[in-house]
Amino acid sequence: MSFANHLKDVKSQIRETDVETLRKIVEAQKGQAGDGNGAGPILVDVREKDEWVEGSIPGARWIPRGFLELRIEDQVPQKSAEIVLYCAGGTRSALAARALGELGYTNVKSLAGGFSAWKRAGLSFDRPYVMTAEQSLRYARHTMLPELGDAGQIKLLKSKVLLLGAGGLGSPVGLYLAAAGVGTIGFVDDDTVDASNLQRQIIHSSDRIGMAKVESAAAAIAKLNPDVKVIQHKTRLDSSNVLDIIKDYDLIVDGTDNFQTRYLLNDASLILKKPVVNASIFQFEGQVTVFKPFEGPCYRCLYPEPPPPGMAPSCNEAGVLGVLPGVIGVLQATEAVKFILGIGKPLIGRLLQYDALNMKFREFKLPRDPKCVVCSEPGKKIELIDYEAFCSIAR
Ligand SMILES: [Zn+2]
Repeated sequence: MSFANHLKDVKSQIRETDVETLRKIVEAQKGQAGDGNGAGPILVDVREKDEWVEGSIPGARWIPRGFLELRIEDQVPQKSAEIVLYCAGGTRSALAARALGELGYTNVKSLAGGFSAWKRAGLSFDRPYVMTAEQSLRYARHTMLPELGDAGQIKLLKSKVLLLGAGGLGSPVGLYLAAAGVGTIGFVDDDTVDASNLQRQIIHSSDRIGMAKVESAAAAIAKLNPDVKVIQHKTRLDSSNVLDIIKDYDLIVDGTDNFQTRYLLNDASLILKKPVVNASIFQFEGQVTVFKPFEGPCYRCLYPEPPPPGMAPSCNEAGVLGVLPGVIGVLQATEAVKFILGIGKPLIGRLLQYDALNMKFREFKLPRDPKCVVCSEPGKKIELIDYEAFCSIAR
């Protein structure tokens, strides 16, 4: 049988849709990707990478023809989901539609005329962010995870994360987020590197003692990954600067050790609806949780007010096992990466506690307080408060 006859045969077995029908669907779907749950069809581009990067139909996901059978069940588990496939001219997508039919997909269509017909109709298309060859190599162990793919890596590259503190927790968080390719990392810290920091603050080094911590962190990250832009905020957060500093970031990782900042950050993050990955460490123990404004509890749901200054713990510095902030910081970095990618189950409303001496993890539920002074009603006016400095546990 000639290919022309074969194709005719295939087209008689599959269903096609046209550009005008798809245009209406794409316009209706704008801003919300089809998920197969009644939100409209899932649009899949089956062309090769060099074609995809030149432009694609808005809302399409990319699974090259050669990987379609391998990846479709991960991406579209529901066999009855409505799927529209397209290629450049409608031939490869017709063959692909038949292949999905053989896999048990019951509602697959091929776009007649393909992307060429879409462009000929003068319809708008997206030009995706494309990784360079160096980036494809650097992040290969990420992009080969079906949960990430190139799209996930690009989310990381476009993301902005603010780290409060370039100390014990900020060190591993900063290094791992930089290695992962988080495109913009901000550090807030007004301290300088001291020899006694180096037992745990692994982003710094002996030859940078005396340097501002934000500058030292930027130097370490520049060596690790040139894709990462580091923003240095050499300051202390207070009510006058907190909103301005955090407003451009997608997520905040709190590695600070004082109550003033905790309360201030909590209230500011509620005003701007920024998620916060919170952690604290003490001697041999640490804990981590995620505060997502108005979805889980906030810091004040747990501790409505700071203790009066006289009741605060003493100012004597406590020791800390050097590896402890490594463990806890990497947990924070994990939550940050998951949050950016939108994968897995975040630590919202859950507190993970780690006991290094007994090598035990325990999880506690953190309920939201329906009477919380700041987060009980979204829209409630929140005043930022500069609490007087008082001591707390050491980092
Ligand atoms: Zn609250």
